[in-house]
Order: sequence, then structure tokens, then C-alpha cells
Amino acid sequence: MNAGCQVIDLAEYQDLRMIVRANIRSFLRHGTAKARGAMIESVAAVMRKYGKKKMSFGSYEVVLGQDGDFYFPLIRAKRVTKGCPRCGREKGLLYISTQKQDLLGPRDLVTWGCRDCGEIFARWDPNERSGKRCLK
Ligand SMILES: [Zn+2]
Repeated sequence: MNAGCQVIDLAEYQDLRMIVRANIRSFLRHGTAKARGAMIESVAAVMRKYGKKKMSFGSYEVVLGQDGDFYFPLIRAKRVTKGCPRCGREKGLLYISTQKQDLLGPRDLVTWGCRDCGEIFARWDPNERSGKRCLK
């Protein structure tokens, strides 16, 4: 499947959640900036079209964010762990979004995706203000 081609036939997928999940999984599988952009665009477009502001999935929820004319999905993991809760991977994860910015502290709550198993989870990671950007 071409990562740049995220047009999904809505007649085939009546279930909106399935479409959103498929887009997120597609991004996790390809892991490229291009796939990430396509996922953000598609999920935001689908949520807007069907008037969804928030959708809940097993281990995460998707909230529609807005910045001026720009709409984007905020993917927030429900579980906070050190590494992938399914396979244990701690490095080489895919950045999905920042759930919470600790404005005074050195860490942000970041949503990560696992390349191996597609799990989505959150972890506290050092931000720019900590002086170290290591993704331990
Ligand atoms: Zn995993």
C-alpha cells in the first residue's frame, strides 16, 4: 500500500473507528514523515466530516484539535509506561504527539507508537528544556 495514498472508500468501511484506526496503523507500519502527514490529514478530515470531536479506542483516544484553519488529531495514550506494554521495545519508537507539556519541568508526556507491534502508549520523556534529548 502506498503511504501517500490514504484515500479510503467510505462505502467499504462503514465503521468510522475502523477508518481512523487503519490510518494510524498505516502510519505505524511505514513510520515516515510522509505517512505521518497523511495520517494526520486523513484522520482530521474524517473526524470533521462526521462531526467527531473525540473518539475512543482500546489503548488510546483521538481528540480533534484546531489551530486556526488547521485541524489535527491529538492521539492520547491511556497507559503510561516505560516501554511498549506489549513487546517491551523502548528505543526506535515512532513519535506520535505530545500529550502534555510540562511547562516548568524537564519532561513531557509523549505518545509513542511501537514499530514492531503497533501498540500506542505514553511515556514521560526529557524535553528541550532538560538539555538532553535522549530517548532512553
Ligand atoms: Zn511493541
